[in-house]
Amino acid sequence: MIREFLGDPADLIETPTAAQCAVFGEKRRRIPELYDFDYPSSTGVVQNSESYAQGVAAQRPFYFDHIAELTDRAFAEYEALTGRRYARAAGYRLDDADYVLVGQGSVVRDAEAVADYLRDERRLKVGVLNLTLFRPFPADLVAELLAGRKGVVVLERTDQPLAVELPMIREIRAALAQAAENGRARAARSGGGRLRRKKAVAQEAPLPYPRLPAMGADQVPDLYSGCFGLGGRDLQPGDLVAAVENMLADGAGRRQFYLGIEFVDEDTPLPKVQIRQESVLADYPQLRDLALRPVEGIDLNSADSIELRIHSIGGWDATPAGHALAAAAAELFGMHVKAFPARARERRGQPTQYSAVLSRRPLRLNAELKHVDIVIAQDPGVFRHSDPLKGMRDGGILVIQSDLSGEALWNHFPQTAQWAMRERNIRVCSVDGAGIALAEAASPAERYRLQGLAFMGAFFNAASLLGRQGMTREALYEGLRTHLGGDSATNSAAIEDEIHACMRGYDEVRALELSELEDQGRSAKIPLIPSSMAGAEAVAGPGNQGAFWDQVCAQYKTGHDILADPFTAISVIPAATSSMSDMSTVRATVPRFVADKCTGCSKCWVQCPDSAIPGVVSTIEEVLDATLSTLATTQNPLTQITQLLRHLARESRKILKKGEFESFAPILSEAYEKVAEKMGWDEERREQNDAEFQQVLDALEHFPLAKTAPFFDVPESQEKGSGGLLSITINPETCKGCDVCVAVCDDGALVNVPQTDEEQERLEANWKLWKNLPETDDRFIRISSLEESIGMMPSMLLKQGNYLSMLGGDNACMGCGEKTAIHLVLSAVNALMAPRVETHVVEIAELIEALDEK
Ligand code: SF4
Ligand code: SF4
Repeated sequence: MIREFLGDPADLIETPTAAQCAVFGEKRRRIPELYDFDYPSSTGVVQNSESYAQGVAAQRPFYFDHIAELTDRAFAEYEALTGRRYARAAGYRLDDADYVLVGQGSVVRDAEAVADYLRDERRLKVGVLNLTLFRPFPADLVAELLAGRKGVVVLERTDQPLAVELPMIREIRAALAQAAENGRARAARSGGGRLRRKKAVAQEAPLPYPRLPAMGADQVPDLYSGCFGLGGRDLQPGDLVAAVENMLADGAGRRQFYLGIEFVDEDTPLPKVQIRQESVLADYPQLRDLALRPVEGIDLNSADSIELRIHSIGGWDATPAGHALAAAAAELFGMHVKAFPARARERRGQPTQYSAVLSRRPLRLNAELKHVDIVIAQDPGVFRHSDPLKGMRDGGILVIQSDLSGEALWNHFPQTAQWAMRERNIRVCSVDGAGIALAEAASPAERYRLQGLAFMGAFFNAASLLGRQGMTREALYEGLRTHLGGDSATNSAAIEDEIHACMRGYDEVRALELSELEDQGRSAKIPLIPSSMAGAEAVAGPGNQGAFWDQVCAQYKTGHDILADPFTAISVIPAATSSMSDMSTVRATVPRFVADKCTGCSKCWVQCPDSAIPGVVSTIEEVLDATLSTLATTQNPLTQITQLLRHLARESRKILKKGEFESFAPILSEAYEKVAEKMGWDEERREQNDAEFQQVLDALEHFPLAKTAPFFDVPESQEKGSGGLLSITINPETCKGCDVCVAVCDDGALVNVPQTDEEQERLEANWKLWKNLPETDDRFIRISSLEESIGMMPSMLLKQGNYLSMLGGDNACMGCGEKTAIHLVLSAVNALMAPRVETHVVEIAELIEALDEK
């Protein structure tokens, strides 16, 4: 059809305009050939200024002035072929409209739905003008269609702060001004009591703008300018209703405003944001008027529609699962479906969403869903990093992945979510989609597809789709067979697996009876600024991390949008802010260290893309010192054990050199017994020491320390007392659980364990202690023997300063190989350059000082 409409480039057609006839003759090729070997010519040649000026001026009458008419002709031909009518500018319910929403592209459908709503519910005569063409601007149609309206709001997806107005409203205002000039000219010519004959001649004289209609000054509508959708930001029907209310006789009448933007958050729970906001408002009191607040509670989807949102993790195929669900709902239940992933491409290991609306009637709106009926959480930890109840309708349904039930499942939710679910009467259901997929999948490759199908079945059940559509379970089964292509002989086994997974999801989804359950969920953590961002001596400026934390990070961490303020306006991000992301809320598994298997090969800390598993070598004394620094506070002064540290370290080293190594804690315990024996304390002293030692032992019980050949055995063999312990500690926040370190550890010293609250506590305790370890001493880095060394780059990375030259915590895909490469380059540059820069700075300081003295 498109081929028929557009024709073949080589077709000979009637040359459409006189100017073109002058160049090409009466007939021309549909796409003119500018390169002809028989009649060679050059195009795009450099012109001198005289011919350039002539050429530019000639373009208007001979080419550009024809475009509007040719476009109308093309639209008419397209309508004849398809029955679809397009125009350079087209109205929707404009015949009697007092107020008009003007837009282009996807906002037009939303505006039409809002116009219908306002006519039906508020008796307001609202219409929509769709500007299909921007160039040539359809001034004739715009003037004709907008003449006599009370108010016109022009919606534009752009901002031009230094211009008088945005581009489209400028064109509209110019079109209306020209039409009004036409009107004035006509009035002037017909007025003044001149002779009748003279008057008739004047009426026939061309108007100043002959292509435009003539319009009286009283027919020029009031114009309003609404900026929306910058960077794809959502526009809700409530925003459009606010734009219309603004034009009403009792409306605010603001001429320029933003839609869907927040300059002021009146309900912020963050005291620092509130204080800053008040100070900004004192200087810029007009901020409150810059954006229109959306009218709340506008739901334009039909009552029988179902809004659905899927929360998943990138890499779990949420988008294909969402598409499959949408396609099945359309085919099996004859529903209209509008579906869209939150991102065009899922980032592996990062939270992702997919939304869809299903309805018996055609769907119009393109806005984000704000009245979600069903949330499917394939990600069981969704409450750790998102609020799946946000934008959900009261009385909606949550279907969450879990193999738990009853009390155990309920108490898996944070307490705040439990309260919200009770308060808002949310029905909570669970299904073990992952378990079903594991059981039904013939190969690992099928797992996520079957998981999606299990949730599809759970959705059909939870949404009572069968009941709504008068369908039986058996009919669903048969429908799925046809839908999934069950009559194909080639992959019938796979299709049986798919149907089975879907029906199991349908059958196995269970609802929680909240009235029988007690609320004992987890309490929420208060987000604190990460230490890498908390610079005590930071000065004001765009690089101030503390200010960025307050203004941006704390907002995100508490589920709030950032505000349009002086900082967002200059879009700068201080260094190290990636450390605000907490991957513990996203990852499903995390590596655990098996100390007796580690050989110190270095592969894990070199290959981790997120610099989340630093290797550090410390002497036993340093480990014990770091432990005491971690434990000792003014409330908990460890006075006795401090005096024993050197003894403990010496005894430990002796034991380490002699015996088998499993982990450091039992060795330390044995060392303590030996020290105690030698010291001969009385009972009271022994009790005091035991109590303090127990704290040290507890802190080190799970701390990852290994006795390895490169860092302990070899140095000890060369010089007594010079061996160190290798610590392989996981950063509890930045590790994405990508599995790379586990995969590269040939010695089995890293294993994956599920991410649980207990595991997280253990990781956090270890990390706290790790932060008190000093930098790896140079002697562990300058390994001279090639056989015994672990290599230059791995050795350099043993210095925390080098290793942390790139922080993790960003939202790149988990296991991202490019990040490993960048990390290694940055660390190498830091290792080699930082000492030179330091020396150079000292030299310069000395020179300055010397000059000052002269
Ligand atoms: S699981 Fe991935 S991110 Fe975590 S420490 Fe291992 S390699 Fe690094
Ligand atoms: S944990 Fe594994 S990969 Fe890492 S240093 Fe030890 S043996 Fe090597």
